[in-house]
Amino acid sequence: MNPSNPTDISKLCIHTITTNPWNIEEAAQNYSAAGVKGITVWRDALQARNIQQTGQMLRDQGLSIVSLCRGGFFPAKDIDKRRLAIDDNRRAIEEAHQLGTSMIVLVCGADPRQSLEDSRKQIRDGIATVLADAVAAGVKLAIEPLHPMYADARSAINTLAQANDLAEEFNSPFVGVAVDVYHLWWDPALKKEIKRCGQNENLFAFHICDWRTPTTDFLNDRGLMGDGCIPVKQIRSWVEATGFNGFVEVEVFSNNYWKENQADYLKKVINAYKEHS
Ligand code: ZN
Repeated sequence: MNPSNPTDISKLCIHTITTNPWNIEEAAQNYSAAGVKGITVWRDALQARNIQQTGQMLRDQGLSIVSLCRGGFFPAKDIDKRRLAIDDNRRAIEEAHQLGTSMIVLVCGADPRQSLEDSRKQIRDGIATVLADAVAAGVKLAIEPLHPMYADARSAINTLAQANDLAEEFNSPFVGVAVDVYHLWWDPALKKEIKRCGQNENLFAFHICDWRTPTTDFLNDRGLMGDGCIPVKQIRSWVEATGFNGFVEVEVFSNNYWKENQADYLKKVINAYKEHS
């Protein structure tokens, strides 16, 4: 946010999963009415819908479709599962193209039955396999490092340095990284690695929320900005110092917030964005 204009929400994007009880039509109407300009769409929100028409509906509400969440989950001990993952990533690329967004976020995956090194090799192979499809569709792939507590089954890519290494190996304008404060706030190398991906034009996306103490659920107990200990403003300043001019995406999975009236909760999201990001 421009500190001289604390009411500016022109860079605010909200992930559909943040207001999970709403379907995508309700989310679009409510975000738009509140002045939100960006939406990131989770694939489950597209179920049983014409994806092209849904993309048009979002644009008609004045929303930029920042990305589709998510692809990835490449590693598996069994080759059949790895092939299914490739198929699913190709479907995600096609869905992103139909929706009219130019980015997919990759939660890269891991399989606890094999070493992290093996999982990382399969992630690299998986991205290499689908990259031509992504380029043809005009869809960028954003590697999102996940907090190490997810290294068993969700991602063998756990630091921004690892994600930067991997993105740089591809040396493609279609492969970059997503910086999510929930996963990366603890990393002493974070400032340096944000600068690195910015300089290499690999900083594709920026996700925010907060880390609650105690965290009662590994997945679904994220806080709104200001609820916890993540220095969101400081990390955002590092991101924007690289020249990053994209959306700031609020991505909150929360069993508690999902129980609230979502219209009231949306107001809290916007206030938290204004005051704490
Ligand atoms: Zn994220």
